[in-house]
Amino acid sequence: MDFSLDEMQTIAVDSFKKFLQAEIKPIADEYRDKYIPTPLAKEIQAKLAPFGVVNGFLPEELGGFDMDAVTLGLMMHELAKVSPDIAITTLIYFASGKMVSGTPEPLRSKYLEGFINCELIASVAISEPGTGSDISSATCRAKPDGDEHFIINGEKMWISSGDYSDFMYVLVNVTEGEETGLAVFLVDREEHGYETTNIDKTALNSQSTAQVFFDNCRVPKENMVATPGQGLKMLLTLLQSSRPIVGLMAMGIAQAAFDEAVQYALDRVQFGKPIAAKQIVQEKLATMATQIEAGKLMAFKALSSIDQKKRSDIDAAMAKWFCTDLACEIVDEATKIHGGNGVTREFPVEYMARAAKVFRVTEGTNEIQKLMIGRAITGLNAF
Ligand SMILES: Cc1cc2nc3c(=O)[nH]c(=O)nc-3n(C[C@H](O)[C@H](O)[C@H](O)COP(=O)(O)OP(=O)(O)OC[C@H]3O[C@@H](n4cnc5c(N)ncnc54)[C@H](O)[C@@H]3O)c2cc1C
Repeated sequence: MDFSLDEMQTIAVDSFKKFLQAEIKPIADEYRDKYIPTPLAKEIQAKLAPFGVVNGFLPEELGGFDMDAVTLGLMMHELAKVSPDIAITTLIYFASGKMVSGTPEPLRSKYLEGFINCELIASVAISEPGTGSDISSATCRAKPDGDEHFIINGEKMWISSGDYSDFMYVLVNVTEGEETGLAVFLVDREEHGYETTNIDKTALNSQSTAQVFFDNCRVPKENMVATPGQGLKMLLTLLQSSRPIVGLMAMGIAQAAFDEAVQYALDRVQFGKPIAAKQIVQEKLATMATQIEAGKLMAFKALSSIDQKKRSDIDAAMAKWFCTDLACEIVDEATKIHGGNGVTREFPVEYMARAAKVFRVTEGTNEIQKLMIGRAITGLNAF
């Protein structure tokens, strides 16, 4: 068991960190709590792409670098340290890119180039106003319209990059026809038409989280990328690979808050000494540093299993809940170290505390992760 990074990973992460400070941090600071418009969102993804973080996971023959999951996780951790908002857009960018790469021809070729060039943004639409944790109860429905088309009606909710999206992978319930059940359709905004509106949240408002409306949206049958009965399986496999990355993103926020707390504790003098010299403050810092290390190791284990093509769903669920809950705890301690300044908008920990909370919900709530782990341990379904 070797926990060190190889030479390529070290070079990749070091140069990425320098680039993030120079190019992305100024944008993140300017747009904190302010919406990044679509052209700039695409421009940012295009700037990130040469580092492999956006589409480097693709095989070389499809325009990627065959980047492994651990390296991708390392990069996403660094990106989330600088901007959790932009990291979410990137996460959805490569998650939907995985869907593009698995989309049957001729559709794949139609979208792949735009995806590689960061000209097209896609979303993955599972959740609905009435369908959250229980994704099998999706009510957004598709009915056959003749032999060659389907008509989609319904709403999706909380869709990351929804307002940015040029196309979307949508989980729908096919309710009539030869085959029924949950399927996935690729729906193109321009060709088939859907409407989006952004949702105002506690944090992460510089990226898009949208409600999506499908009103008699007519889609060719060839756009069905998972047939009825196969839709859930396709999307659950996708979530399995992104959950440890969400964990590492949360640890990125925690690390950034920790770094701020260390600096603040060294600078802030009370009772004639920097507060960093006080035992209780050091205990907090030591605990936070240890927790960040534990969280990262757990996420890397899950990503390493993905790279080795081993079973990773339970490791992924453990890493997701553990890291995202822990991040809230760590950021809270960092806030306390900042005293009154911790609750002012002038200090970055205030934003980090708002942003960290959101990660407990995305990609399946932490309660749902624990139910999956519980089911694997006991063989009993407690959902
Ligand atoms: C910022 C953000 C981005 C998102 N991006 C996307 C996206 O790109 N695509 C997408 O499809 N969705 C997305 N989501 C939706 C997200 O996956 C859902 O919010 C999440 O799955 C929970 O669904 P819900 O909000 O409807 O909560 P509910 O399912 O209504 O849950 C409410 C509470 O009940 C608990 N609960 C539910 N069922 C059980 C149970 N069986 N046992 C015990 N407790 C239970 C939950 O843990 C939670 O605490 C996003 C959400 C957010 C906030």
